[in-house]
Amino acid sequence: MNNKWESSVRKVVPYVPGEQPKNTDVIKLNTNENPYPPAPEVREILDSFDVSRMRLYPTPDASELTNAIAERYGVDPAQVFVGVGSDDVISMAFLTFFNSDKPILFPDITYSFYPVWADVYRIPYVEKPLRADFTIDPADYKCENGGIIFPNPNAPTGVFESVEMIEDIVKSNPDSVVMIDEAYIDFGGQSCLPLVEKYENLLVIQTFSKSRSMAGMRIGFAVGSKKLIQYMNDVKFSINSYTMNTVTQICGAAAVRDESYFRETVQKIIDTREYSKKRLAELGFTFPDSMSNFIFASPKGKSAEHVFTELKKRSIFVRWWNKPIIRDYLRISIGTREEMDALFSALEEILNG
Ligand code: PMP
Repeated sequence: MNNKWESSVRKVVPYVPGEQPKNTDVIKLNTNENPYPPAPEVREILDSFDVSRMRLYPTPDASELTNAIAERYGVDPAQVFVGVGSDDVISMAFLTFFNSDKPILFPDITYSFYPVWADVYRIPYVEKPLRADFTIDPADYKCENGGIIFPNPNAPTGVFESVEMIEDIVKSNPDSVVMIDEAYIDFGGQSCLPLVEKYENLLVIQTFSKSRSMAGMRIGFAVGSKKLIQYMNDVKFSINSYTMNTVTQICGAAAVRDESYFRETVQKIIDTREYSKKRLAELGFTFPDSMSNFIFASPKGKSAEHVFTELKKRSIFVRWWNKPIIRDYLRISIGTREEMDALFSALEEILNG
């Protein structure tokens, strides 16, 4: 029996992130983390950090980090919004831009946080089915709507959509804000970031959690027109001025300035991904082509649930969802070459044993 006060509680079903096992002696391929450490300067900053700086509040606009991102991407700092992970950025963007009575649109198979934010902020939404090959049908996004969001490449499928297709969707929706969540864009896709100069209603969101190996630091950012970013800052500064701590701001700026380390680690992951595609195909897996740091693959002969459970017994963590359409798939993050070889040995045993 609910107490009376509970009738006015904001009730939501929260997002469930991938498991973070307590035991570190595992092969962790379940949350799309980067297997390599962050840029070397991050280590140096942490080693020499003057803790007395912690007495002071952080810079509210995270200007050092914002400026470094603006420089890296060739935009004005007033076109950059930073947040505590891209989850924070996307959440702020939902709150700021998705205020229509019309439903927002996103794919039925996509980042499972979108319906959670929509629910918590009371935003109506419609999920548009992907085609059988997991691609987006742009025609689905040419109806009346209160906004649009999808990741490119999509998650958990890894499927990349062309910039031309995205431009077509943005062009067809001058009356709503279109958000492209580019969490995985650095692993071979083409960013639609240059389009923000052309379309005032396009917001492009990226993260330091994947390609910059800083999931634990929590850094995400959005790039858009000055108008969009101003609106987001107005909402953010109406809630909490000091979301990003000082250490994170400094480390993030150092990471974004180290372009050569970034390119080197991203290339290693791309190479391992391409190798992994070959190995998975040899093992009989089928999968849509991935342009991200994970592969969404369906095993042959055994259920995905069985393979997931057997891998876990061997301390290898991948992601599996007990949901329609994707129940037969495993999402496998790309680790080091050694980690992937250990995975393939285990898969051989599980599938042929
Ligand atoms: N978007 C997508 C598509 C993701 O998969 C993730 C990672 N869970 C995020 C956003 C959020 O990443 P973060 O908050 O670490 O930047």
